Amino acid sequence: MGYNLYTFIGPYISVNETVAYRTKKVHACTNKSCSRATNERFWHTSDNFCGACGTKIQYRETEVRVPGTLGVLSVLDTEGFVDFLHKMKPDEDTKVSYLGPNRPNKNWDFYPKENSSVTEITPELIKAQVEWFKEEYAKPISCLEKAFGALEVKWGVICYYA
Ligand SMILES: [Zn+2]
Repeated sequence: MGYNLYTFIGPYISVNETVAYRTKKVHACTNKSCSRATNERFWHTSDNFCGACGTKIQYRETEVRVPGTLGVLSVLDTEGFVDFLHKMKPDEDTKVSYLGPNRPNKNWDFYPKENSSVTEITPELIKAQVEWFKEEYAKPISCLEKAFGALEVKWGVICYYA
């Protein structure tokens, strides 16, 4: 398993997530690739072996979301906007998620058509992209604002591993 470094250039919003996790002791399948290991319905079984993969059932600690706390993707999913925004998390230790458009605007193509391409970044370009993002993504942004408070559309370069 490897990580790739991604660079995002364009309009984005940053959301301070209020999701919190706590550790919980469960008696469940310990096979990380088994669906029963992550499905809460199978966390308190009295079986000795997993009914799906046959792995020995053991006590282990797992992270669970504290009820009432919100994550960006769960809010977007509830409102049917989960595919609209692209979530980037440059620093795993912070609770801040950065969200950009999932599809680039056809008017601004940063990808090289032949061997290379150069795009000059001007204040006009930045302003136009910010306005486009606000308008094109008004609905998912407003549903995030209902959950997390007012959000400012910014423009920048974001590097992250995924
Ligand atoms: Zn299993």
